[in-house]
Amino acid sequence: MKAHDGMYIDGAWRPAAGPDVIEVVNPADEQVIATVPAGTVEDVDAAVRAARAALPAWAATPPAGRAARLTALRDALVARQDEIARTVTAELGAPPKLAQTVHVGMPVVVAGSYAELAATYAFEERTGNSTVLHEPVGVVGAITPWNYPLHQVVAKVAPALAAGCTVVLKPAEDTPLTARLFAEAVHEAGIPAGVFNLVTGLGPVAGQALAEHPDVDLVSFTGSTAVGRRIGATASGMVKRVALELGGKSANVILPSADLARAVNVGVANVMSNSGQTCSAWTRMLVHRNRYDEAVELAAAAAAKYGERIGPLVNAGQRERVRGYIEKGVAEGARLVVGGSEAPREKGYFVSLTVLADVTPEMTVAQEEIFGPVLSVLRYDDEEDALRIANGTVYGLAGAVWAGDEAEAVAFARRMDTGQVDINGGGFNPLAPFGGYKQSGVGRELGVHGLTEYLQTKSLQF
Ligand code: NAD
Repeated sequence: MKAHDGMYIDGAWRPAAGPDVIEVVNPADEQVIATVPAGTVEDVDAAVRAARAALPAWAATPPAGRAARLTALRDALVARQDEIARTVTAELGAPPKLAQTVHVGMPVVVAGSYAELAATYAFEERTGNSTVLHEPVGVVGAITPWNYPLHQVVAKVAPALAAGCTVVLKPAEDTPLTARLFAEAVHEAGIPAGVFNLVTGLGPVAGQALAEHPDVDLVSFTGSTAVGRRIGATASGMVKRVALELGGKSANVILPSADLARAVNVGVANVMSNSGQTCSAWTRMLVHRNRYDEAVELAAAAAAKYGERIGPLVNAGQRERVRGYIEKGVAEGARLVVGGSEAPREKGYFVSLTVLADVTPEMTVAQEEIFGPVLSVLRYDDEEDALRIANGTVYGLAGAVWAGDEAEAVAFARRMDTGQVDINGGGFNPLAPFGGYKQSGVGRELGVHGLTEYLQTKSLQF
């Protein structure tokens, strides 16, 4: 057990203002592995003051200079990749291979993409008799969830720094150790004091203090829709900029002409990955009634293969929540095909990969975000029915469409109310905008769209 003290504020680890700590638990064996300080309003205030003081010089640093620091940050993350992957496994429970390839690999690519964008983006443009300057919004309060502990941080901090903003980060309670390693990497990259600051702490204390701080210009939040709604209300009351990346309930639409086995196998793998703790996971599989039974059989076979390879959920509360959803699904009439709510192991917050069939669109498991390895398979009659079901939730974060013909899949995807759609298993693109329609959020992350969230325009007329 390691007791960490200090917050990374103004370029150094400084003692926390209060005595309280947060215990970090390994979800695979339920052991406390570390403690970190639980930040207070005073810690947040000190961090925001440091970020404000550092803003003029960082904003005035030429883009090439900011790009050089971001390249150094990417390199510092690469140098620590094994340590970061081990830490993600320890505090989130991610299987080691997933930790290496996705939890570390993806943010390294994203950090590199922002080093490049900082160097190449046109921060000035001409229109008619005007020059338009794209200037940093100012001090950013970044609040992140635990499900991708490094990616969620990099997806906010890298574009903010590329834009010339300074940042105070409040990471999730469950995964503060990865955030501490990120702060070490920032330090090693020679990013000037105060440009990036870290305050660990509880959401309703440190997170809320950051969102409400009058000297924070933009709040960028990723997490649940319930908390996002509050943060949006606070920010709009203070006329602050806000970006919200919230929940999802994505549809995997398998059109009748699709390669069914491939669509089902990829769909099951998608829901299984990260133990289902992915906001964009395709947790609703939509299959035409003529191919429904075959699809359920294929899903059951695919799910059975994963068995022991699936990691635990992040904490006991999440495990109970997910088990409750499985029970509710069965109580409302869904058919349990594989998995179930019983604990598959004595220790650790594990839930079996679960497939529910005969799910209808109004059931709780088809409407609410479960955030666990639970796949609901729904039946549709025709394409219009499929579209109604796909669009029939309050969310709109992601989705997938499969068809024999790419154009047919694209035509369907155009009618989906969602921010990102994978066509016939199209791969993740770190430069493509990511974010939600409807209650899945406001704003976009990644690529050039992620950068412009942190910019505001000034026009000079000549
Ligand atoms: P959460 O909303 O409970 O917490 C997210 C962050 O907000 C944490 O750092 C937490 O400490 C902080 N927080 C909590 N209460 C707060 C308050 N009152 N004021 C300020 N900050 C507060 O979410 P979670 O359980 O950590 O993450 C799971 C949720 O995140 C899921 O709903 C998931 O869909 C969503 N998510 C969305 C995306 C996306 O990109 N759209 C990505 C990942 C996760």
